Amino acid sequence: MNMVLPFLRLTIEPIPRNSRRATLANLLPRGQWDRIRRYVYRRSRYHCQICGREGRMYCHESWQFNEQTGYQYLMGFECLCEACHKTKHYFFARDSQERAILFQYFLTINRVTRQQGVDHLMNVYQQQRKLNQREWIVSFGEHNWHIPATATVRQRRSYAKLNHPQYG
Ligand SMILES: [Zn+2]
Repeated sequence: MNMVLPFLRLTIEPIPRNSRRATLANLLPRGQWDRIRRYVYRRSRYHCQICGREGRMYCHESWQFNEQTGYQYLMGFECLCEACHKTKHYFFARDSQERAILFQYFLTINRVTRQQGVDHLMNVYQQQRKLNQREWIVSFGEHNWHIPATATVRQRRSYAKLNHPQYG
Protein backbone atom coordinates (compact mmCIF):
# COMPACT_ATOMS: atom_id res chain seq x y z
CA MET A 1 0.00 0.00 0.00
CA ASN A 2 2.81 2.43 -0.78
CA MET A 3 1.40 5.87 -1.37
CA VAL A 4 2.92 8.24 -3.83
CA LEU A 5 4.03 11.30 -1.89
CA PRO A 6 5.68 14.52 -2.96
CA PHE A 7 9.35 14.90 -2.05
CA LEU A 8 9.69 15.24 1.70
CA ARG A 9 12.51 17.28 3.24
CA LEU A 10 11.70 15.89 6.64
CA THR A 11 10.71 12.25 7.00
CA ILE A 12 9.70 10.30 10.09
CA GLU A 13 11.99 7.34 10.67
CA PRO A 14 11.06 3.86 11.75
CA ILE A 15 13.40 2.25 14.29
CA PRO A 16 13.13 -1.46 15.05
CA ARG A 17 12.15 -2.13 18.66
CA ASN A 18 15.08 -4.49 19.19
CA SER A 19 17.77 -2.04 18.17
CA ARG A 20 16.47 1.14 19.79
CA ARG A 21 19.40 1.43 22.14
CA ALA A 22 21.98 0.44 19.56
CA THR A 23 23.15 3.95 18.74
CA LEU A 24 26.66 5.33 18.72
CA ALA A 25 25.48 8.07 21.07
CA ASN A 26 24.55 5.36 23.59
CA LEU A 27 27.53 3.10 23.09
CA LEU A 28 30.56 5.33 22.64
CA PRO A 29 32.41 6.86 25.56
CA ARG A 30 31.18 10.43 25.91
CA GLY A 31 34.38 12.06 24.63
CA GLN A 32 34.44 10.05 21.43
CA TRP A 33 30.80 10.75 20.69
CA ASP A 34 31.39 14.45 21.38
CA ARG A 35 34.18 14.52 18.79
CA ILE A 36 31.90 13.00 16.17
CA ARG A 37 28.93 15.24 16.83
CA ARG A 38 31.03 18.43 16.98
CA TYR A 39 32.52 17.49 13.63
CA VAL A 40 29.00 17.02 12.24
CA TYR A 41 27.90 20.43 13.61
CA ARG A 42 30.95 22.20 12.16
CA ARG A 43 30.45 20.48 8.81
CA SER A 44 27.03 22.12 8.46
CA ARG A 45 28.16 25.36 10.12
CA TYR A 46 25.78 24.89 13.04
CA HIS A 47 22.73 25.03 10.78
CA CYS A 48 20.00 22.42 10.59
CA GLN A 49 20.44 20.41 7.39
CA ILE A 50 16.68 20.21 6.91
CA CYS A 51 15.22 23.61 7.81
CA GLY A 52 18.36 25.76 7.96
CA ARG A 53 17.68 27.01 11.47
CA GLU A 54 20.57 27.98 13.78
CA GLY A 55 20.91 27.24 17.47
CA ARG A 56 21.31 24.10 19.48
CA MET A 57 22.02 21.18 17.15
CA TYR A 58 21.53 17.43 17.46
CA CYS A 59 23.53 14.73 15.73
CA HIS A 60 21.15 12.30 14.06
CA GLU A 61 22.32 8.80 13.09
CA SER A 62 20.76 7.67 9.82
CA TRP A 63 20.28 3.96 9.14
CA GLN A 64 19.61 1.69 6.24
CA PHE A 65 18.06 -1.76 6.57
CA ASN A 66 19.00 -4.64 4.29
CA GLU A 67 16.22 -7.20 4.36
CA GLN A 68 18.28 -9.79 2.52
CA THR A 69 21.22 -9.82 4.95
CA GLY A 70 19.38 -8.75 8.10
CA TYR A 71 21.96 -6.03 8.73
CA GLN A 72 21.20 -2.45 9.60
CA TYR A 73 23.93 -0.05 8.59
CA LEU A 74 24.85 3.31 10.00
CA MET A 75 25.00 5.40 6.84
CA GLY A 76 26.06 8.70 8.33
CA PHE A 77 25.14 11.64 10.49
CA GLU A 78 22.89 14.64 10.04
CA CYS A 79 23.06 17.93 11.88
CA LEU A 80 19.48 18.76 12.94
CA CYS A 81 17.69 21.34 15.05
CA GLU A 82 15.57 20.15 17.95
CA ALA A 83 12.24 20.36 16.11
CA CYS A 84 13.46 18.45 13.03
CA HIS A 85 15.22 15.85 15.18
CA LYS A 86 12.19 15.28 17.40
CA THR A 87 9.98 14.96 14.36
CA LYS A 88 12.28 12.32 12.85
CA HIS A 89 11.80 10.43 16.12
CA TYR A 90 8.06 11.06 16.15
CA PHE A 91 7.50 7.62 17.68
CA PHE A 92 9.46 8.62 20.77
CA ALA A 93 7.09 11.51 21.50
CA ARG A 94 6.00 11.69 25.14
CA ASP A 95 2.26 11.94 24.58
CA SER A 96 -0.47 12.74 22.08
CA GLN A 97 -0.03 16.47 22.63
CA GLU A 98 3.63 16.35 21.60
CA ARG A 99 2.76 14.09 18.66
CA ALA A 100 0.20 16.64 17.48
CA ILE A 101 2.80 19.44 17.62
CA LEU A 102 5.40 17.36 15.75
CA PHE A 103 2.86 16.33 13.13
CA GLN A 104 1.90 19.95 12.52
CA TYR A 105 5.60 20.82 12.20
CA PHE A 106 6.04 17.96 9.73
CA LEU A 107 3.21 19.39 7.57
CA THR A 108 4.64 22.90 7.67
CA ILE A 109 8.24 21.99 6.83
CA ASN A 110 7.21 19.67 4.01
CA ARG A 111 4.37 21.88 2.77
CA VAL A 112 2.05 18.91 2.45
CA THR A 113 -1.62 18.44 3.26
CA ARG A 114 -2.86 16.75 6.41
CA GLN A 115 -3.91 13.75 4.31
CA GLN A 116 -0.43 13.47 2.79
CA GLY A 117 1.02 13.62 6.28
CA VAL A 118 -1.31 10.85 7.43
CA ASP A 119 -0.30 8.76 4.41
CA HIS A 120 3.37 9.15 5.30
CA LEU A 121 2.68 8.18 8.91
CA MET A 122 0.73 5.07 7.87
CA ASN A 123 3.58 4.14 5.61
CA VAL A 124 6.14 4.51 8.40
CA TYR A 125 3.94 2.55 10.84
CA GLN A 126 3.87 -0.27 8.32
CA GLN A 127 7.67 -0.22 7.88
CA GLN A 128 8.04 -0.12 11.65
CA ARG A 129 5.87 -3.24 12.08
CA LYS A 130 7.91 -5.05 9.44
CA LEU A 131 11.25 -4.06 11.00
CA ASN A 132 10.03 -5.23 14.42
CA GLN A 133 9.54 -8.76 13.12
CA ARG A 134 13.22 -9.62 13.26
CA GLU A 135 16.31 -8.93 15.26
CA TRP A 136 18.66 -6.80 13.20
CA ILE A 137 22.42 -7.14 13.24
CA VAL A 138 23.77 -3.67 13.84
CA SER A 139 26.73 -2.42 11.86
CA PHE A 140 28.34 0.88 12.76
CA GLY A 141 30.57 0.72 9.70
CA GLU A 142 33.88 2.45 10.27
CA HIS A 143 32.88 3.01 13.90
CA ASN A 144 32.56 -0.70 14.75
CA TRP A 145 36.06 -0.99 16.07
CA HIS A 146 35.63 1.37 18.96
CA ILE A 147 32.38 0.08 20.41
CA PRO A 148 33.18 -0.40 24.11
CA ALA A 149 32.70 -3.52 26.18
CA THR A 150 29.88 -1.77 28.05
CA ALA A 151 27.49 -2.52 25.19
CA THR A 152 24.68 -4.90 26.18
CA VAL A 153 25.10 -8.61 25.61
CA ARG A 154 22.73 -8.54 22.66
CA GLN A 155 24.55 -5.62 21.09
CA ARG A 156 27.94 -7.27 21.61
CA ARG A 157 26.64 -10.44 20.01
CA SER A 158 25.73 -8.32 17.01
CA TYR A 159 29.25 -6.92 16.73
CA ALA A 160 30.71 -10.40 17.13
CA LYS A 161 28.55 -11.64 14.27
CA LEU A 162 29.70 -8.76 12.17
CA ASN A 163 33.38 -8.97 12.89
CA HIS A 164 33.63 -12.75 13.30
CA PRO A 165 30.77 -14.27 11.29
CA GLN A 166 32.04 -17.78 12.13
CA TYR A 167 30.91 -17.24 15.75
CA GLY A 168 27.53 -15.86 14.78
ZN1 LIG B 1 15.51 21.91 11.50
